[in-house]
Amino acid sequence: MIKTITTDIVVIGAGGAGLRASIEAVKMGARLAVISKEPFGRAHTEKAMGGLNVAIKPPASPEQHYQDTIKGGWYLNNHKLVHIFTHEMPDRIYDLVSYGVKFDRLPDGSFYTWAGGKQSAPLNLCAGDYTGREMMHGLASEVKKLKVPFYAHYFVTKIFADKKGVYGVYAFNQKNNRPVFFHTKAVIAAAGGAGQLYKITSNEPSNTGEGYVWGFNIGAELQDMEFIQFHPTGMAFPESEKGSLITEKVRGHKGKLINSKGERFMKRYQPERMELAGRDEVARAIYTEVQEGRGTKHGGVYLDVRELGLKDIKKHIPEVYAKFKKYGVDISREMMEITPTMHHMMGGIRFNEWGETNIPGFYAIGEVGTGIHGANRLGGNSLAEGQVFARRTGISSSIFVSKIKHRKFSDKIIKDETKRLDDLVKRTKGISFKEIRKELGSIMWDKVGIVRDEKTLVSAAEDIESLIKKAAKMKATKKTLQPVLETFEMVKLARIIIACAIVRKESRGAHFRSDYPKMNKKWEKNIIVKNVSGKIKTIVRPTIKL
Ligand SMILES: Cc1cc2nc3c(=O)[nH]c(=O)nc-3n(C[C@H](O)[C@H](O)[C@H](O)COP(=O)(O)OP(=O)(O)OC[C@H]3O[C@@H](n4cnc5c(N)ncnc54)[C@H](O)[C@@H]3O)c2cc1C
Repeated sequence: MIKTITTDIVVIGAGGAGLRASIEAVKMGARLAVISKEPFGRAHTEKAMGGLNVAIKPPASPEQHYQDTIKGGWYLNNHKLVHIFTHEMPDRIYDLVSYGVKFDRLPDGSFYTWAGGKQSAPLNLCAGDYTGREMMHGLASEVKKLKVPFYAHYFVTKIFADKKGVYGVYAFNQKNNRPVFFHTKAVIAAAGGAGQLYKITSNEPSNTGEGYVWGFNIGAELQDMEFIQFHPTGMAFPESEKGSLITEKVRGHKGKLINSKGERFMKRYQPERMELAGRDEVARAIYTEVQEGRGTKHGGVYLDVRELGLKDIKKHIPEVYAKFKKYGVDISREMMEITPTMHHMMGGIRFNEWGETNIPGFYAIGEVGTGIHGANRLGGNSLAEGQVFARRTGISSSIFVSKIKHRKFSDKIIKDETKRLDDLVKRTKGISFKEIRKELGSIMWDKVGIVRDEKTLVSAAEDIESLIKKAAKMKATKKTLQPVLETFEMVKLARIIIACAIVRKESRGAHFRSDYPKMNKKWEKNIIVKNVSGKIKTIVRPTIKL
C-alpha cells in the first residue's frame, strides 16, 4: 500500500513564490503540504542577486513601474496583472520586512534603490547582491514559525486532474524512493523555470521545467513560451562556471561593456541607454559583436567595473567580487569576461489576478506562471511579482478549498503511476539521461537561441522529435530516476517552446527572428498553447489591456 496524505492544498515549490503562498494559505486556515526537491530554504530563489522592483520612494511611482514594465515587455504583458502588481508591491515589501528581511538602507534610514535596465527611475530594492538569500531567510523563518508541513527532498512525478479539476499529486522521497500520494482539493504550482534546457544557463540544476509540462498535460493554457530571456552577463570562463550570473547591478553601478577592440560597443546599438538598455537588446548586441569577430578568447566580451572602485565594489557587489577573485581575477583592477546566458522563462501557465488557471483547483505562481513580463522581463520584476500573486493565490485557494469536499479517486491511478516508475527502474540497458540532456542543450542553444529563423526552428523541431524517441529508451536506476523523469519532461517542453517560436513571425523582445527582423504591430498578441488530445494547439489572442 502506498502512503496517502490527505490535505487541502499541495504547494509544489518552495522558492519565493511557494513560500509566500504557503504563509498566506496557512494564515487563512487551510491544511497544506509544501513539496520541494531541495532542502528547506534552499530553492533557486536563494540565488537571486540584484534585487526586486518596487516603487518604494520618489521619484519612483507605481504608475512609472507599470509603464516601465509594459514598455520593457514590448506591450505583450497582461496589463491588468501588471497594474495590480505594481500598485500592491510596496505592501509586499513591508510584509517581507516584518518577516525579518533586511534590505539595504541609506545613512538616513531610507531604503537604498538603484535603476536597472529600462527603468526610468530607481526601482530596484536589494540586499547587496545576495537579495534572494536574504529574502529566503525571512520567508523560511516565517514558514517555520507557522509550522507549515514541509516535504523537502520529494520529487513530484504527476498531478491528477479530470474535468472537475485537480485531486491528487504523486511524489516520491528522493532519499529512499518511497512514494506518497497526496489527496488534495487544490494544487499551487510554484515550480520555477527551465534553464536546464539550454547548454549555457544561470539557473540551478533543479530548474528543469516539469511544472510547465504538468500544466500542459492536465489541459491548462500556457502562453508566451517563445520568449526566453538570455541575460547579457554570465561568466564566460572557467568552463565549470560558464553561464553563472553576473548581476545587472554591475551595469547599474558603472559597469561598461567592451569588445576585444577596446570599443564601448553599446554606443552603436543603444546610444541613449547604453548598458542599461533592455536585457534583450544588450544580449543581442553582445551576440552580434561575437559573431562579427570582436569577441574575447572565451567567446564573450568584457565587463569593466573598475571605475566603481574597490570600496564600492565590496559594498554593492561583494558576491561578484568574490566569484571572480576565486579564479584569480580582481575586478577592481581587471575586466570580467562575460557571455549571454539562458536566464528566465517569460512564458508559462496563464493565471488571473487570483492565481487561478483554466483548470479548477489548479493555481500557478512565480516563474512557472506568465503574464507580467510580456516579451522581455525587467530585472527585479520576478522576485517581486512572485510575492504579489503568491499572496493573492494563498487567499483565493484557501477560500476555494473551504467550499468543496475531497473528490473520490480510484486506487488504479496510483498503481499505474507506481508501475510506470517501477518499470523504468528495471531498465538496466538504454541511453543515459546525460546524453539526452547534452543533445537537448545544444539544439536549444544553437537553434532556439538569441537569434532564430524558420530554418533553425524547423530543424530544431525535427531534432526534438528524434530526441523524444531516443529519450523513450533512457535507462534508470533508483538513483537516477529523478533526472530521467525530469529529462522526459524537458524534451516535451522544448517541443512546446519551438512550436510557439515557429508561429510568431516577427521580432519582439527576447524572440529575435532574423527572417522577420522587425516588430509588427499586427503581432501585438499572445500565443496560447494547449493540449488538445495529446497534440499541441496554438491559438493567437489579443493581449489583455486595462
Ligand atoms: C542567478 C539568478 C539570479 C537572479 N536574480 C534575480 C533578481 O535579482 N531579481 C529578480 O527579480 N529575479 C532574479 N532572478 C529570477 C528569479 O530568481 C526567479 O525567477 C525566481 O526566484 C523564481 O521563483 P519561484 O518561486 O517561482 O521558483 P524557484 O525559486 O525556482 O523554486 C521552484 C521550486 O519548485 C520546486 N520543484 C520544481 N519541480 C519540482 C518537482 N518535480 N518536485 C518537487 N519540487 C519541484 C523546486 O524544488 C523549488 O523548490 C534570478 C535568476 C537567476 C538564475
